[in-house]
Amino acid sequence: MSIRPWRDISRRKSRQIMVGNVPVGGDAPISVQTMTNTLTSDAGATIDQIRRAEDAGVDIVRVSCPDTESTAAMPEIVRAANVPIVADIHFHYKRALEAADAGAACLRINPGNIGSEERVREVIRAAKANGCSMRIGVNAGSLEKHLLDKYGEPCPDALVESALEHARILEDNDFHDFKISVKASDVFLAVAAYQGLADSTDYPLHLGITEAGGLRGGTVKSSIGMGSLLWAGIGDTIRVSLSAEPEEEVKVGYEMLKSLGLRHRGVQIISCPSCARQAFPVIKTVELLEQRLQHIHTPMSLSIIGCVVNGPGEARETDIGVTGGGNGNHMVYLSGVTDHKIKDDNFVDHVVGLVEAKAAEIEAASNQS
Ligand code: SF4
Repeated sequence: MSIRPWRDISRRKSRQIMVGNVPVGGDAPISVQTMTNTLTSDAGATIDQIRRAEDAGVDIVRVSCPDTESTAAMPEIVRAANVPIVADIHFHYKRALEAADAGAACLRINPGNIGSEERVREVIRAAKANGCSMRIGVNAGSLEKHLLDKYGEPCPDALVESALEHARILEDNDFHDFKISVKASDVFLAVAAYQGLADSTDYPLHLGITEAGGLRGGTVKSSIGMGSLLWAGIGDTIRVSLSAEPEEEVKVGYEMLKSLGLRHRGVQIISCPSCARQAFPVIKTVELLEQRLQHIHTPMSLSIIGCVVNGPGEARETDIGVTGGGNGNHMVYLSGVTDHKIKDDNFVDHVVGLVEAKAAEIEAASNQS
């Protein structure tokens, strides 16, 4: 029995597949994905972008393979990447064969869209021969004509039916290593479709609100849609789709999972909005700390609170806490206990030092256990 049951999320039971060396589904941590937006044929630029996403903590990266130049660049990209690479394929089954042979860990493909059954069988043979998994990626914007005719417009049942039709093609060919997404830019449609799919199958689900928008609007929209699904225990891997750099998608994905206690990475900063009572410039301080603490991957919490109204209470719950005090004397709490005072000078440097020391301490303890 959990001591804080209001924080418990009971995850939907899904089967587990592997995307390269990353498990997806079952009791695996919810993985964070992004997608490159460089020309895949420009291996150097694509690898640079993958590297930035890796620095932000990405687990899996997808790259588009629209032409033979892209699949020709895949071996170099796969060799350079430290995370599994998913090849995004539409319509051209030969790109799927090439990507599988080039070392892609997973093929995002809709088997119903690539032509004859023999072509589907060829792709499945290539996936099996190369140890690739697949993702069926249904999108409200590209639903099959017979489903649009049947339902009149993209609706949850249509998305679920499309996904299950594609799934059946793979199952009929004895292929079961796949995950499914049913994305829509409409948050109501996407959420209802994922709920329907979660009730209909035990395949792992890849969550996304497609074409969600720019950094701010897309983050809010994705957080509402994906956040409500994750809160209900639905979702095994996520991609936040933003009109922004891939590493921003990764950071937003982690923040979403951190907010729900589903994944922990780096410093979670609890900070107040500040007001006339603030004893130091909270907003500027938090901005600086966010920049200066990006290199910390150890999960830990830090509260930066402008005054004693909420500072001591928040500090009791965090690994390190700072509460603004009178005359430029701010109180530092370590593991919830009052420890020492700091002045305005060197405030940020001092807190960065404390966080680095705490991270080293946590790492050393976990290496011993
Ligand atoms: S904690 Fe203090 S400074 Fe921060 S918003 Fe609340 S009252 Fe204002």
